[in-house]
Amino acid sequence: MTAWRIAVGGFALESVSFLPQETGLDDFEREARRGRALIEGLAGSASVAGGFLEVLDAAAAEILPLVYTDCSAAGPASDAAFEHYRDELLSGLRAAHQSESGPLDGVLLFLHGAMTTPSRPDPEGDLLQDLRDALGPALPVMVAFDLHANLSPRTATLCTALFGFHFSPHVDMAETGARAARCLLAKLEGRADPRVALVKPPVVLPSIFTATSLQPLSQIVADSLSLAQRVPGILDASVFCGFAYADTPDLGFSVAVVADGNPGLAEAEAARLAWRIWGLREALLHEDLVDDLEAGLAKAKQITRQDARPVVLLEHADRFNDSTWALQRLVAEAEGLAVHCPYLWDPQTAAAAVAAGAGARLTFALGGKSSARAGGSVAAEAEVLWAGDKVFTGSGPMRKGRRIDLGPSALLRLGSVTVSVISVCTSAIDLDPLEQFGVDFAAQDIVLLRSKTHFRAVYEPLAAAIVIVDTPDWGTADLTQLPYRHARSGIFPLDRRAEWQGTPLHAKLAN
Ligand SMILES: [Zn+2]
Repeated sequence: MTAWRIAVGGFALESVSFLPQETGLDDFEREARRGRALIEGLAGSASVAGGFLEVLDAAAAEILPLVYTDCSAAGPASDAAFEHYRDELLSGLRAAHQSESGPLDGVLLFLHGAMTTPSRPDPEGDLLQDLRDALGPALPVMVAFDLHANLSPRTATLCTALFGFHFSPHVDMAETGARAARCLLAKLEGRADPRVALVKPPVVLPSIFTATSLQPLSQIVADSLSLAQRVPGILDASVFCGFAYADTPDLGFSVAVVADGNPGLAEAEAARLAWRIWGLREALLHEDLVDDLEAGLAKAKQITRQDARPVVLLEHADRFNDSTWALQRLVAEAEGLAVHCPYLWDPQTAAAAVAAGAGARLTFALGGKSSARAGGSVAAEAEVLWAGDKVFTGSGPMRKGRRIDLGPSALLRLGSVTVSVISVCTSAIDLDPLEQFGVDFAAQDIVLLRSKTHFRAVYEPLAAAIVIVDTPDWGTADLTQLPYRHARSGIFPLDRRAEWQGTPLHAKLAN
């Protein structure tokens, strides 16, 4: 038997539509891998591609690597960057499909599902539409999406089947890629006829409440996870929480169910899960878990006096790793407490520290530069403890095996507060951000993080407590503060009196 010819690619970004900085070609290119470098760089990694490649390799498939780039979370993609990678993916697919080696048998893609550009509220849908226009409706195309995707009904009609991360923190990215790849092989070998249905209950959550260990979200995820075992004919199910900070008509939750040859069954189970989300919407919105800055600082200080373990103070509304609302207060009121702030994104300060060198004392304007909502810079004298380029291989559950390049970086001391500053905007979600700068987590009283859910996989078991503070930055938990222009009306909690008649208002069947 000749090997299956499978193309593999990825183009991912979680866009905060409201941020002024676009994510451009340079940003995507820094993360991009192509050809052999895609296979060699991502095989065995915790990425979606790692899962694609593992399953394809075991099946002795012929892998046709396209381009793969994942910029994590940032501002909107520029229109030029979107068009560049769309065109590169499509020309690679066309070339592979029309080559002398014969047509493609299938395609595996990783898309985030919450990308926006200045002129496109649904770029992933646009990309898939162009792919179908180029390659036709019959080619099996399996797509893995992030749990935070705001999926459009159109997207579900364009994928042969779609798959989402089950967990946030996203510790199952590779497994999600493997689910998509196994389903593709099952279709090609005639073992399954995957049909997908998508149902969208009108609910969206601030990212902070999409941690899948939180009740009752954990029960809904468990329900979806066991579906394929419990219900004959179901192949796969995914609950997508949506991404509240991408301004799109498709904002919010989606449930996708893949059934074997039975679109009606897929739709019925998707609608059942969607109805369950709608019924639990008030409980899913954990406003009780968030303090204002004043109360959160007091709580963190009180806990650290009674517990030797560090407290994680979470400035979750920060979307650019440079908010200073909490840092301003901690520098002014540290009271001798050992406070560490990892990965403050500030290329200007990093460059100044590198130029001055270790041992120098300088007055910096630290952070707060990404937008008018970031809190303004902290003007303070600091000692440069270390400065230089920081490049290493990631070790955490989500970044294992990935090359991390932070650019010019520095470790600064301001009294009892230490801050690492970096030039490439990256979230601190595991212990690498501390250990790579020689900072001991256990020796801290308070560690200031800006992650939403991903930090929990590492920090939750180690911290005395996680204290979440809300600040006015672009990721605030109070979604009514955001200037939505494209979101459809009637979404809870933007509309607290939203009504939904349940099944299947936003259902769409593919195939
Ligand atoms: Zn996500």
